[in-house]
Amino acid sequence: MLAPTAKIIDGKAVSAKIRAKCKERVADLKRRGVVPGLAVILVGSDPASALYVRNKMRACADVGIKSLRYDFPSDVSADDVLATINDLNANQDIHGILVQLPLPPQIATAKVLRAISAEKDVDGFHLYNVGGLVVGDTVFPPCTPYGVVKLLEHEQIPVEGRNVVVVGASNIVGKPMALMLMQQDATVCICHAKTRDLAQFTILADILVVAAGRPNLILPQMVKTGAAVIDVGINRLADGRLVGDVDFEGVRQKASYITPVPGGVGPMTVTMLLVNTIASAERHPDRSLV
Ligand code: NAP
Repeated sequence: MLAPTAKIIDGKAVSAKIRAKCKERVADLKRRGVVPGLAVILVGSDPASALYVRNKMRACADVGIKSLRYDFPSDVSADDVLATINDLNANQDIHGILVQLPLPPQIATAKVLRAISAEKDVDGFHLYNVGGLVVGDTVFPPCTPYGVVKLLEHEQIPVEGRNVVVVGASNIVGKPMALMLMQQDATVCICHAKTRDLAQFTILADILVVAAGRPNLILPQMVKTGAAVIDVGINRLADGRLVGDVDFEGVRQKASYITPVPGGVGPMTVTMLLVNTIASAERHPDRSLV
């Protein structure tokens, strides 16, 4: 019997379609006199964080969102960052506030994320938005799992009633991912580093979302034939290659859909940040969410 070869989900192409819509929405807003504005706070000089920030700001410029960058040295006090967030919360020209993570140890990340107005929390990390995920009416879904939902939607992969296994239980990817797919009536299981015998869970998945940050964690024998496999992981190997968490060449022989790394979930994350910022600006100035 011939093994199925998965359809490779082209995150760049899906992302380009969504960004084209973003441009139209921004043009509409500008006709109404609203220029969507995103404030990006970067603390320290981590090159990876600086690169992410540059990419996000470039994507904003592409669709017509105005982005403003606020740089702080790595030894900045939490109070200084909080004061800037307070100013941005009150600034009518700013519709989204993003704090690039990770933050240096002297700054309590949770406190900073909670200081961002829930109405401008376009990363979706504020407790209000996280709580909204639980009851199914969050204001801003967190960008990476939101991107995965959009990929599944675009490929018309049904979620309702399906077995979904999410590998990884972080606050920014795994947990919100599980909640979002549960809201779509999937039967969801979350696995993490302490899960015993990961394969006994992954093999049941109709949709397998992997966000662990471990190259080659998911091997073909751990995947159900015909499953849709979404690889969120990004790992830089010693030889410089960028890979996900899934053995792509092996698993694509067994799955029905698979996302590549790079070019799968990655481009969607930044795109959903644009979508959230535009949605916030569209609500402006009549916002009263909380
Ligand atoms: P994280 O905070 O380090 O969380 C990793 C999660 O995976 C944890 O829940 C951990 O379990 C679990 N895990 C680790 N090793 C495991 C194993 N052997 N078996 C099962 N579970 C395991 O990472 P994250 O921020 O969620 O990111 C996960 C990956 O996605 C990383 O590679 C990151 O670079 C990538 N990422 C990609 C995008 C994108 O746009 N494509 C966005 C964000 C993140 P414990 O909770 O038990 O420790």
